[in-house]
Amino acid sequence: MDEEPFSIITIYGSNLFSNSVMRERLPRKVFEEIRDVQKGNIKLTSALAENIAVVMKEWALEKGATHYTHWFQPLTGSTAEKHDSFIEPSTDGNVFLDFKGKSLLQGEPDASSFPSGGLRETFEARGYTAWDTTSPAFIREEEEGSTLVIPTAFISYLGHALDTKTPLLKSMKALNDQTMRVLHALGNRTSKSVVVNVGPEQEYFLVDRKYYEKRPDLLLTGRTVFGSMPAKGQELDDHYFGAINNRVKSFMHDLNIELWKLGISAKTQHNEVAPNQFELANIYNSANIATDNNQIEMEIMKKIAGKHGLVCLLHEKPFRGVNGSGKHNNWSIGTNDGINLLEPGDNPHENMQFLLFLMSVIEAVDTYAPLLRASTASSGNDHRLGGNEAPPSIISVFLGDALTTILKRIAAGKDGQPTDDEFIQIGTSNLPSLNKDDTDRNRTSPFAFTGNRFEFRMVPSSGSIADANITLNTTVAEVLSKVADRLEVSKDIEADTKSIIQDSYNKHHRIIFNGDGYTQEWAEEAEKRGLCNFPTTIDVLPELQKQSTVSLYENQKVLSKMELDSRYNVFVEKYTKEINIEAAIMVEISKLQIIPAAVSFAGDFSGSLVNSKKIIMDLDISTEKKLLSEIHKNISGLLSITEILDKQRNTLLESNEEDYQRALQYKNKILPLMEEVREYGDALEKLVSKEYWPIPTYEEMLFKL
Ligand code: ADP
Ligand code: MG
Repeated sequence: MDEEPFSIITIYGSNLFSNSVMRERLPRKVFEEIRDVQKGNIKLTSALAENIAVVMKEWALEKGATHYTHWFQPLTGSTAEKHDSFIEPSTDGNVFLDFKGKSLLQGEPDASSFPSGGLRETFEARGYTAWDTTSPAFIREEEEGSTLVIPTAFISYLGHALDTKTPLLKSMKALNDQTMRVLHALGNRTSKSVVVNVGPEQEYFLVDRKYYEKRPDLLLTGRTVFGSMPAKGQELDDHYFGAINNRVKSFMHDLNIELWKLGISAKTQHNEVAPNQFELANIYNSANIATDNNQIEMEIMKKIAGKHGLVCLLHEKPFRGVNGSGKHNNWSIGTNDGINLLEPGDNPHENMQFLLFLMSVIEAVDTYAPLLRASTASSGNDHRLGGNEAPPSIISVFLGDALTTILKRIAAGKDGQPTDDEFIQIGTSNLPSLNKDDTDRNRTSPFAFTGNRFEFRMVPSSGSIADANITLNTTVAEVLSKVADRLEVSKDIEADTKSIIQDSYNKHHRIIFNGDGYTQEWAEEAEKRGLCNFPTTIDVLPELQKQSTVSLYENQKVLSKMELDSRYNVFVEKYTKEINIEAAIMVEISKLQIIPAAVSFAGDFSGSLVNSKKIIMDLDISTEKKLLSEIHKNISGLLSITEILDKQRNTLLESNEEDYQRALQYKNKILPLMEEVREYGDALEKLVSKEYWPIPTYEEMLFKL
């Protein structure tokens, strides 16, 4: 008999404590109350939490959970949790299963092990987790037993954000408030709230576990600090959208099932540009849920890869000379009644509204480009942005020719009388649907309008998408607040909307660029236009401390000065730590693996030569000698530069330099030294016999699955 067909419908969301589960299980009044809490209409009470905890516990136990955990997202970029069992001792010496409203509402993990950037030193060591009612709890199935996972925010005793979720939620509120003001001023009386919709596309590599385990650099840093691309490289491009190999297919199948159980709508999957590189996209969701889902997704990808003898690499640049990985953060603003504010409309009024929101986003990107760049900055992403691949580190907005022309016409005051019916007609008739081909074809733009949303492509593959979205939401909210200020006192909404679009375009059109972002000409042109270019993390982090940044985040009530400072400190420290580990691993591989292997190969090789020469006295070994001396030259070069790297690293570690200054030294001194070490190491890889080479090669890792 055939196996029963597997049903997505039955498993979809089966491990998710969703609103529909709550609707089924909670008394109607209680369900309505939690909905109101989710919408921000009323405050969460302990009585309500108590009611929900009972139902949540029952549901979780039915699903086989033995533990529950408050799951949170500290500033490390990944997630953390503390497990508690449902078991409580009873007075008669037995146990019973319990889960109180209090345990749902609040937890107290040991906060001291998470980065706080000084927030805790100054105040209290304690940190609290608080239930996020807007992101559903879920069951994590594990062989050792299942766990009820409760998404939470992580805050200090005094209420400072120690995580990414807290400011994300605040930024969503800020954007909601300012967008609603604008909509209201434009005459919208039907929409009650807006949602930020986010659809991330996640890139990743898969490599065979047996190779991975033999690469200490991959194991400990996620990227290879030695190695180079074999002759059959990416230039063949045969991997992109190529047939997916069976092992990978079965990984993807299992991954999809796990994600679907959690109601994560993993939708598209395909090979990416690089060999063994893949992409997974979910159907978009509210920014908060999309962020949580992406974090869960990364966890599950690693777990499922392990079951298939594979390793999922999320680092931005695991392999030199091979396209890196990122996330494309698709972002739009929608209303609760289903209007996408970045979707060109069906009538003149909607078109005007569309152009106003479109232009506001462009203005935000131009005004706050350094902050957007900073929101994607990490030592890993530095290898990708500004490398010879998309996207470049200079922020610009791709709009496409049609929209650019439309905005240009409006700015020139020529909107009423279009000569060409291809163009939008403001205030007179309809906007013809934009030609799909007009969306960013070469995909080199870091920030592209793709028909009904913007796609921010600088986001790092390994980190949380929260930072990028916090920044986008806050900066757009700030621009919209100024728009609202003007429209709220307007006597002629149509004329004023038009003039806001005009002013904004005239001030900010320099950020619009529809060409190829790879080229040197663009770098030069961007500089002429006065656009900022921060090639590395360490260049851009100080932007977080500027007074204008503090004002922005305080205005929008997203982050306080203290919280911004703490973030800055955490990011600076993280940068130093990451490079320091990479340098340490590099020294180890160089001294303990590559040099001994090369010496041993050279020894055996010259031994054989001596023997051959004994037999054939007039043998000409001048070429072999050249090869030998080439090997020895590289060995001694590698040895001496490795020693220097090691010494510099130790000196820096022990120095009393201020954190930023130290981080700067890592960039200016350690990274170039690592570059030199790598050159010698990679040269040796091309000289030493494969049999002697101590670590798996790119060829093995990238072409064998
Ligand atoms: P591509 O690879 O061409 O960029 P994909 O279909 O792989 O396109 O991914 C598009 C992503 O954009 C998906 O995650 C999708 O859900 C998301 N998306 C689509 N429409 C919107 C929207 N209005 N707002 C936010 N995200 C969206
Ligand atoms: Mg995309």
